[in-house]
Amino acid sequence: MMRTLSIEFKIIIGIIFFTLLTTGLERYQLSENITTQFVNSKKAKNKLLLQTMLPVLSLNISLGLEEANKDYLHLIVGQNRDITFMKVTDENDRTLFIYPKNVQSKQDIPDGIKYCQNAIVDNLTNKIVGYIHVEFSNDEYEQMQKKNKQTTLNILIVVLILLSIFIFILKRELKHLKKLTNAVVAYDPKQNNFDLQKSNRTDEVGVIHNAIVDMVEKIASYTALMDEMNATLEEKIIERTKALQNANHKLEQMSMTDSLTKLANRRHFEVYIANTWEMAIRTQTHISLIMCDIDHFKNVNDTYGHIAGDEVLKNVARTLVKSLRRSTDLVARYGGEEFVIVLYDTELEGAVLLCTEIAKNLKNPKNFTVNGIEITPFTMSFGVSSVVPSLDISYNNLLETADEALYKAKESGRNCTVSLDFSSKIMSLY
Ligand code: GH3
Ligand code: MG
Ligand code: MG
Repeated sequence: MMRTLSIEFKIIIGIIFFTLLTTGLERYQLSENITTQFVNSKKAKNKLLLQTMLPVLSLNISLGLEEANKDYLHLIVGQNRDITFMKVTDENDRTLFIYPKNVQSKQDIPDGIKYCQNAIVDNLTNKIVGYIHVEFSNDEYEQMQKKNKQTTLNILIVVLILLSIFIFILKRELKHLKKLTNAVVAYDPKQNNFDLQKSNRTDEVGVIHNAIVDMVEKIASYTALMDEMNATLEEKIIERTKALQNANHKLEQMSMTDSLTKLANRRHFEVYIANTWEMAIRTQTHISLIMCDIDHFKNVNDTYGHIAGDEVLKNVARTLVKSLRRSTDLVARYGGEEFVIVLYDTELEGAVLLCTEIAKNLKNPKNFTVNGIEITPFTMSFGVSSVVPSLDISYNNLLETADEALYKAKESGRNCTVSLDFSSKIMSLY
């Protein structure tokens, strides 16, 4: 695994660089101080030299020891290599000594440290006996200053190089963090668009990078899980809605169906007759109603029991359904052993014919058995009426007429059909 330097370490390097920079500045300041000190010490030395020379010179001049004076000055010049010019004159400005020999005046030599132009005073008489002019070379000073400048420059160059390296490293670190930040900002869990892989770095940036990659992986897996859960939830909702719709449909059918015979119940009949009545008003067609009732049904219950009676009712229902031809015909259990048949677009004669048909079908099969017990053939009575509906009458009027006809059929001895004309109430027996 690649070992990367920690940010902490990099900061330390940065501090070192900073220190070097300040050190460089400090160094520059120091060199300035050294130079000043050098100049001062040089001046002090020159001053001391002159202070040593002046009593000797005054004595020699006073005593007129010119040669001794020259020897002494030669010795001094020989010992102090930094002396570039020396001229000693007597009080009358007569040159007693000049160095270098071939020059006549100060103009012939380059500028040095112009320090000394002193009067030579006789200590006993306190009289000026001559003058001395000495110049010192500043080569040493210039060399030292040059060296100082070079050193400072070298330090600055090194500091600049180190600083550049530091900035380069810092920028490289920031580049990684920037890339990571951009990827995080652009990350959309729905698109799963995080394309950075795990990093091999072991420093803090590597730890942050890998923590983010781990987090993004977790977000992606949770998002997928949530999507899956949502999809299942949606499926479940669709499933439940369907089940609910089926249950509602069943409930509606149940509320419209008679549980024993599975025929339409009275409620269903009422909805159906109301709709059919309105349609017949619009189309001005006949509606016929048949009310029919099992004859002496009480006897069936009394003789064979209630359960057998139920089976008879179911059998009658099947026969009634079988006898109907059109999709617009509806048979409903009106109550007990009484049934009602709605016939849209059917006139009275057609309805009477259907009653005959039902009566015939009831006899087939002849022997009707329930739980192995043979039941004596039973019959039904039918009451029929028919009308072209109008707004001034209701279907209840037709129902009443058909019921009256049924009553008349029972009166007429049962097992027969009675029709009643809706308007004239003229009765016909079949
Ligand atoms: P009629 O010829 O005058 O109609 O005589 P009926 O005996 O058929 O008429 P009645 O009104 O005297 O008796 C009807 C009987 O029908 C009484 C009742 O016990 C029976 N009944 C009504 N509903 C049911 C049912 O759902 N199941 C059974 N088993 N019997 C029923
Ligand atoms: Mg009956
Ligand atoms: Mg009855």
